[in-house]
Amino acid sequence: MPGTNAANIENRPQRVIPKILFLPFALAFLLLLFTGNALAEEEALIYKNARDRMVRTQIKSRGISDPATLRAMESVPRHLFVPEALVPHAYDDRPLPIGYGQTISQPYIVAYMTEIVQPKPQQRILEIGTGSGYQAAILAETGVSVYTVEIIPELAKNASERLSRLGYGGIQVKSGDGYFGWEKYAPYDAIVVTAAAEYIPPPLLVQLKDGGRMVIPVGSPFFVQTLMLVEKHGKETVTRSLMPVRFVPFRRAE
Ligand code: SAH
Repeated sequence: MPGTNAANIENRPQRVIPKILFLPFALAFLLLLFTGNALAEEEALIYKNARDRMVRTQIKSRGISDPATLRAMESVPRHLFVPEALVPHAYDDRPLPIGYGQTISQPYIVAYMTEIVQPKPQQRILEIGTGSGYQAAILAETGVSVYTVEIIPELAKNASERLSRLGYGGIQVKSGDGYFGWEKYAPYDAIVVTAAAEYIPPPLLVQLKDGGRMVIPVGSPFFVQTLMLVEKHGKETVTRSLMPVRFVPFRRAE
């Protein structure tokens, strides 16, 4: 047919859409961006308020006074460490389930265990029982290097991803039986054990620095246990009972 050859089609003038027509779309996009941002900011503020209230009513009021610990508890977004359905309860005065039969400890206990090991910037701290990664993040906020071991591989993987996503990529997470500690980075200035053991695993004592402190719940899994503070002085260890607690059991790899 005349006039329908390829050359003609290619040369057909393009229909020009006036630039002005894009304006409403650009405006709508910007509006979405701003309201999205404003909503996110408002949400962050709501959680910040919940956190400040948690620190005031559950932590300071019970005698925790170490500034680094309080600052850490005020800044780590605990609601991002719990399952989605439990987010409204993230700042409640209690432990919460995190799947696989495990729990994230009560905020007060996390603060207590942090304060008692007296973390100082540049120190190395080993945690046994990563769980959600919350205690590890709190320790990291005080400026120490954190090494944490979790026996349930799925929890270790999730915690590691969560910690990187939230800017705590410096925390080293290992999946394995924490009974043996983590020899590679030993000795540690402090060790925090967040599962209840029947006795203090000897390898952990070996990996504790001279003058170092370990906090560990000791006792039978199905009863109230005792939170213990262990201080290492050369070949001697000084052990002190701190308070009755209830933790999930320290498990052993089969
Ligand atoms: N610190 C955690 C609390 C986790 S509960 C938090 O902040 O969320 C205790 C954790 O210890 C559980 O995840 C459990 O799987 C883990 N655990 C129990 N026995 C262990 C062992 N031998 N080695 C390493 N982790 C262990």
